[in-house]
Amino acid sequence: MKIVLSSKEMQGFSKELIRQNQTIGFVPTMGFLHEGHLSLVDQSTKACDVTVMSIFVNPLQFGPNEDFDRYPRNIEQDIELARRAGVDFLFCPTVDDLYSKELPVTMTATKRTNVLCGASRPGHFDGVVSVLTVLFNIVQPQKAFFGRKDAQQVAVVQGLVDAYHFPIEVIAVDTVREEDGLAKSSRNVYLTDEERQQAPMLSRALNSAAEALSGKSIEQTIDDMTSFLKETTSGKIDYIQILHYPELEPVVEKKGEIIIALAVQFAHARLIDNIVLTLKEEK
Ligand code: AMP
Repeated sequence: MKIVLSSKEMQGFSKELIRQNQTIGFVPTMGFLHEGHLSLVDQSTKACDVTVMSIFVNPLQFGPNEDFDRYPRNIEQDIELARRAGVDFLFCPTVDDLYSKELPVTMTATKRTNVLCGASRPGHFDGVVSVLTVLFNIVQPQKAFFGRKDAQQVAVVQGLVDAYHFPIEVIAVDTVREEDGLAKSSRNVYLTDEERQQAPMLSRALNSAAEALSGKSIEQTIDDMTSFLKETTSGKIDYIQILHYPELEPVVEKKGEIIIALAVQFAHARLIDNIVLTLKEEK
């Protein structure tokens, strides 16, 4: 595995790989790797000749009062995990290398961003589309792999790729969970022992809601999830929403792909999770 620190160098490697007709799979991450990230690598190594993973904690996607400074980092462990998972190029650029001091152009994500995390974290998806535009141009992948755990991100990235005609296939990978159902996340290390006991209730609430949704109204389903999570966790519910997916529009008819998504703020970790289901017809 080659560790690449400079974007010029990374772009040079990619150009050479493309010249050799190698397909490049790309897994963008913020590091502190876990099995969720590694499942994206697994899909990439199966589908592509070469896998590039980036590790970059992107300041543009964090709000002023968010956890940019506290975001967990462990580059030595990440290098080892990436190497073992089969990453060919580990791209770890610095902020100064990736962004010019004063950005001459800024991007705003205008669709699919006024709900869920986009509503709770103003500017977050502007930062996500900005960094991915930069990374896509450096890495030049044919396929890019994203986790369904961040389902809104998948929807926004697909919009970015379509709108800007990136010749990239966006591939969504299922959420990897702990045995008790908790979605794996770098931020889980910031849960207290007590919160860690409570955290599986998030996926339990989603699963019960998914089972009950066809026989209940959206409002009732959200109310029931709210009561359940208030009873079973000490976290503060940031949002619980049920929307069409991937458009992220309000549900007018319970039909087609529907996402049930939630975010819960614990003392030092904000956890998100979701489930996407396909409903056949209105009942
Ligand atoms: P992050 O480092 O949190 O920005 O995540 C990098 C990529 O890994 C994103 O595409 C995430 O959606 C994906 N990811 C994070 N956690 C999981 C998980 N538990 N299962 C599958 N993919 C995940």
